[in-house]
Amino acid sequence: MASLLRPCPQSSCEFRFYEELGDFLAPERRKRSFTHAFDGTPSVKDRIESLGVPHTEVDLILVDDEPVPFTHRLTGGERVAVYPMFERFELGEGNRLRPRPLREPRFVLDVHLGRLASYLRLLGFDTLYRNDYDDDELLMISCTQHRILLSRDTGLLKRSALTHGAFLHATDPRRQLREVCDRFQLDARIDPFTRCARCNGEVERLGVAPDEHDPDRPSPRQRDPDSGERERRDPGNAPQRRDPGRAPPERDPETPPEVRNPTPPGPDKRGRAIPPLRMPGELAGSLSRCRACGQIYWPGSHLSRLRQRLAEVGVAI
Ligand SMILES: [Zn+2]
Repeated sequence: MASLLRPCPQSSCEFRFYEELGDFLAPERRKRSFTHAFDGTPSVKDRIESLGVPHTEVDLILVDDEPVPFTHRLTGGERVAVYPMFERFELGEGNRLRPRPLREPRFVLDVHLGRLASYLRLLGFDTLYRNDYDDDELLMISCTQHRILLSRDTGLLKRSALTHGAFLHATDPRRQLREVCDRFQLDARIDPFTRCARCNGEVERLGVAPDEHDPDRPSPRQRDPDSGERERRDPGNAPQRRDPGRAPPERDPETPPEVRNPTPPGPDKRGRAIPPLRMPGELAGSLSRCRACGQIYWPGSHLSRLRQRLAEVGVAI
């Protein structure tokens, strides 16, 4: 009996975290091995998270050069090497800790990532975002809808129920976009302007109305019956582009639509769907509209600015 009451002797392991996992550690523990003491026989996942690294960021753990699962128990004296996603060496399929990647990457974003949400939607990725989701809602959506939770909150990413999540190291939205594209290998899946940046709805190409002008003879007098903002478009740019961009044009292409233009076009007063806009024929053929909120998208000078800004972080649209 007396032996049961004796305090457990403290054990220790040598830990080494690689690459960007160092960002989660105290500065003196980065890019080097260090000794970490513990009581009992904790799981290696428990110790890794206690040192600050969310389990969502870890793709491989070697204990004395052998791959182990998160549940592996430490007893003391081991060497533990922890690697992030996409470390640059080949991993045997059985060694990875992550669940299989989701077939179609879909996302749910933490509340401070509104601009990143707009960018992901512009690139065609199914992205849920609201600025009033709480942590439990985010977790529930991620788990039940099989969406990757993107966050800068390490506490949220340490929640054990979470299987698909990712910490964003960057604070700039365009650099965050680059990070997400790299980590989930999205570049080949980019399908720009197929989703609404405002609401995540699918965007459909608008046909030319039956009474539309002959596309071969666009009339310079035929105007958008809506007002002003669309008339300030750059007519020289628009007809050449096949891809629709965002409309109406905004001063800052990076500002998420949901914070700057809260009144999307909807059905008319009698509840009828909005008819296709009257535009010069060749422009009408490149108009699109969100099926969910009615937002109209069309090509313009704002599109070339957006392309340029995304090109600066290596994202081509
Ligand atoms: Zn929409």
